[in-house]
Amino acid sequence: MSDPADLTIKAAGDAMRAGELTSLDLTEAALERARITESHLHAFLTLDQAGAKEAAAAADAALAAGEDAGPLHGIPIALKDNMCTKGIETTASSQILSGWIPPYNATVVDRLSAAGAVVVGKTNLDEFAMGSSTENSAYGTTRNPWDTDTVPGGSSGGSAAAVAAGSALGAFGSDTGGSIRQPASLCGVVGMKPTYGLVSRYGLIAFASSLDQIGPFARSVEDAAVLLEAVAGFDIHDATSIRGDVPNIRGSLSEGVAGLKVGIVTELSTTGIDPEVREAVVQTVNELSDAGAEVVDVSLPSCEYGLSAYYLIAPAECSANLARFDGVRYGLRAAGSTTEEMMAATRAEGFGPEVIRRILLGTYALSAGYYDAFYGQAQRVRTLIRREFAAAYEDVDVLVAPTSPTTAFPIGERTADPIAMYYADVCTIPMNLTGDPGISVPVGLDSKGLPIGFQVMAPALGEERLFQVAKAVEDIAGFTARAALATSEVVQP
Ligand code: GLN
Repeated sequence: MSDPADLTIKAAGDAMRAGELTSLDLTEAALERARITESHLHAFLTLDQAGAKEAAAAADAALAAGEDAGPLHGIPIALKDNMCTKGIETTASSQILSGWIPPYNATVVDRLSAAGAVVVGKTNLDEFAMGSSTENSAYGTTRNPWDTDTVPGGSSGGSAAAVAAGSALGAFGSDTGGSIRQPASLCGVVGMKPTYGLVSRYGLIAFASSLDQIGPFARSVEDAAVLLEAVAGFDIHDATSIRGDVPNIRGSLSEGVAGLKVGIVTELSTTGIDPEVREAVVQTVNELSDAGAEVVDVSLPSCEYGLSAYYLIAPAECSANLARFDGVRYGLRAAGSTTEEMMAATRAEGFGPEVIRRILLGTYALSAGYYDAFYGQAQRVRTLIRREFAAAYEDVDVLVAPTSPTTAFPIGERTADPIAMYYADVCTIPMNLTGDPGISVPVGLDSKGLPIGFQVMAPALGEERLFQVAKAVEDIAGFTARAALATSEVVQP
């Protein structure tokens, strides 16, 4: 058998149930991969080797006793370090939370543990999930396993890099403006943002609460569906989580696209999109048409304003959410002779430059006299975008576009230019503004050998259709390439 670290969740589960592999073998293979690649990548902030091996041994014992918790039983997975893990440091990649150990688990963590998954560690991110390259982490940059001179995307760059490198078979991230789909695209893995409210955010360190969603990273569309099924559904601890039945997620996975109507979004597929990315997307769309889908062009003109609306709404919400980090309750506390001085010093010392920029922008946009001109206007644009997408879905089953306008860019290229960095999410932000689900599937490599992601979008709670089309895209593209750092030539000592 090939190295177990390279298996999909499905293949690893089959091998475990056939008695060819134990969870401990699999977990040790993932940890070994991390041991070899981490000095190049820095995908993890915390590796919990002892905890992972203990959980794997327990999973093996349970399986031997006939207790099978389902498709994630014994599977090593990684979690973005903005999800609370009881007893394991959780920093959101910020100095202000350095050393903070949560007293409780996020709901997703409890659900994964009930599903038998083995958590190998906590992954790096842009501080408080603000960024598109993982360069805003207070604990150092993560590198892309396809080319370590390039970024893995962000903000969930550590989760994407860990799955691409083989240090975990699946991972979870959060997506506020594209932070799952964009790094998945740049790292050649599948990444999915569920419908707003489908997955509980209890225990997720909040960035922008009307946009944040937790979702999976995996090496196949089916694996991503399995990961999502394990965590989706109503949670009494999250008032925004959706009551009622979870949509069928894997129900139509292999039904293909014959008879479906696919709309390619003009505004997200032309201007500002790298020609090689555009070509790969057009080719995939043509192949969907050959497979029996009806393909049409769809114009959604207000998408043009998505980025501007997002960069008012997200900072406005973050300025409120981050008010709680004041040196009193969590993590860092700087010196000061009065409470006010202590709070100001703690925040000045504890937050990095991008977080401070967002708080300032957001506070300004919400201030008296400017509220309606900025925040109010952005909300009106958001409504317009939502209506345009809803109208489009009256005619088509799914919409498609590139995930990211470019493939992975060199480390340092955009750090001095926030606007260039913000542009990385131009294709993903609309799904956060509408609350609808979106998924990125790798479809090819550019001339530099870097992965290109294809985005499928569906109406709210349209996960079944979304995964069905994503699976067809995966089958059509037949993407089997692996990151340089995950190939045996590199990792064999
Ligand atoms: N890159 C976007 C931002 O910086 C999106 C981040 C995210 O989805 N968490 O806000």
